[in-house]
Amino acid sequence: MDDHFTDGWTVHVLHCDLQEVETLRFTRDEAKRCLRTALAHARGAEPPSINEYCGSCTQRFTCRARREALGLIPLEGSGAFPLESCPSAQLREFILRAGIVEEFAAKAREILKTRCLAGAKIPGVWLAARRGPRRLPADQLTPLVEALGPAKVLSTLGTVSEARARDLWIGSRTEAPFPAEAVEEMPGTARVHVRHP
Ligand code: SF4
Repeated sequence: MDDHFTDGWTVHVLHCDLQEVETLRFTRDEAKRCLRTALAHARGAEPPSINEYCGSCTQRFTCRARREALGLIPLEGSGAFPLESCPSAQLREFILRAGIVEEFAAKAREILKTRCLAGAKIPGVWLAARRGPRRLPADQLTPLVEALGPAKVLSTLGTVSEARARDLWIGSRTEAPFPAEAVEEMPGTARVHVRHP
């Protein structure tokens, strides 16, 4: 439904036994409501279970199933606050523990990969082969410099760091001034570092 961004649906239901055609029209909201009601009905009181779509779910930071999996953020009672209200020390501990889990997950992934490569069939685990990028050393473009001009060829290579450009400039002993005014400063980033106090 969301894939097609449609705002309304017309559904023709063919009642073959009664030889009747019923035409139903739904707005987007009505269709969503119907789907949720049907899903809730089909699942009964079943709690949510972690699945491959959790990453795009609006409840991904509050969902009980996911909090339970983390094992650190309280599920209920007065301690069951949203992540934004977690004490900073608890968030720090969570990040440190998550780092350990990530390391174990990477190791587990390697082990599964080895088993898959050895031919094991493991439900829910598969190898996806992806070809590496095909690249050509830039100096192989030399014949194009004459044909297209150096500016056009060099522009296909993108940008270089200021430090690298300055090294080349100095090494070349050119008398042309370094184009300092053309240096672009990219937006910086701030990263939170966490460690045990
Ligand atoms: S985050 Fe929770 S509610 Fe959302 S899809 Fe995952 S299990 Fe279901």
